[in-house]
Amino acid sequence: MSATIGTEFNMNVLVINSGSSSIKYQIFNMSDNSVPASGVIERIGEPQSSLKHRWLKADGEYAEISLTQYVADHKEGFQWITDVSEDTGLTKQLKELFGIGHRVVHGGEIFHEPTVINEKVIAAIREMVPLAPLHNPANLVAIEAALKAYPDVPQVAVFDTAFHQTMPPHAFHYAVPYELYNKYNVRRYGFHGTSHQFVSRQAAAYLGRPLKELDLITLHLGNGASAAAVKGGRSIDTSMGLTPLEGLIMGTRCGDIDPSLPFYIAQRSGMSMNDIDKMLNKESGLKGICGANDMREIISRAEENDVLAALSLDMFCYRIKKYIGAYYAVLGGTDAVIFTGGIGENAALVRKKCCEGLDGLGVSIDTEKNNSPSGEAREINRSASPVKVLVIPANEELEIAVQTVETILAAK
Ligand code: ADP
Repeated sequence: MSATIGTEFNMNVLVINSGSSSIKYQIFNMSDNSVPASGVIERIGEPQSSLKHRWLKADGEYAEISLTQYVADHKEGFQWITDVSEDTGLTKQLKELFGIGHRVVHGGEIFHEPTVINEKVIAAIREMVPLAPLHNPANLVAIEAALKAYPDVPQVAVFDTAFHQTMPPHAFHYAVPYELYNKYNVRRYGFHGTSHQFVSRQAAAYLGRPLKELDLITLHLGNGASAAAVKGGRSIDTSMGLTPLEGLIMGTRCGDIDPSLPFYIAQRSGMSMNDIDKMLNKESGLKGICGANDMREIISRAEENDVLAALSLDMFCYRIKKYIGAYYAVLGGTDAVIFTGGIGENAALVRKKCCEGLDGLGVSIDTEKNNSPSGEAREINRSASPVKVLVIPANEELEIAVQTVETILAAK
């Protein structure tokens, strides 16, 4: 668990989550999991890039600044982060970095665990680009820029897909010609692995039981959303597939649909496959039904009897309920259902609707506990309920920092 790392070692870890035009970063002090600095650069490559930087001052208070300047590429972005960190008194933290952890979206079948980055690892991440054409190139740019900026600091790739590599073949294969798996790596991979793993570990700590003994259903509900069945700490099924489009209904992604739908739409509308791909990823999900993908707006519109907002909310929760049922069967029962992510942590109404009518499975929510907001891990089930229902704040960055430390120590 994260807490034990801190008590034994005093170290700073930089965690980087790089998108095609953005870099999010956090420096963790692993002695107490505090964050002496964090921030985000957006609009890299555009005429005006922005940087928001938050840091812990010597007096123990946090300060925040917003800056703009032209940043041509990720390499310049790193230089900007270094400069701003030094300007704000964080030179020591950067000089003493124990490691850098990179979130990498696709590790294919090669990476089952976080891995210390070297030339071979970079080449393998590059090989996976066809599977994640938007994400892996951005991750690679950040890795190469960080290696140049911090050549002496060990760097670790933490893959979104790695946690789900324990899925058995009957769960990860699609029923399409088998040769597509060999030729084009067509199979289910799953994503959000770091988050599912993090909340599983946190749930075990909260319940005071060994993770190895627990059967868990984890629900990561943010703008992207996925469910996982976690048996003894290992993912045995998850709702996302070859890409993050499969499974639950999401902010703008459709989730499960009839695979014939794109062909039908193409025939009827003349839309190209590219346009349909964009529509299913960016114009569908909650947004496709009611025009909004912000759950706060959807709930408040639904409460004012907006029919399409209410429909999108019902569809979102119904899909989740179907996955809870499916994973209950897959696991042969469950010790806990865990909600995390912006929606899972904050939307009591969503949690209520997802669990409604599941008393037969032992899942039963206590209304008062469910309606009491908190930033802490907590249980919201009725005290007599055999299955725990937990709300656990997501912290993928902390999990990446922990895995970075564990991986570097194991490689030494
Ligand atoms: P991302 O996948 O982008 O990391 P988040 O985990 O931040 O997403 O979750 C974003 C979602 O959480 C949005 O739909 C947002 O409306 C929802 N959300 C955040 N706070 C609340 C709240 N208090 N009530 C309901 N939904 C919320």
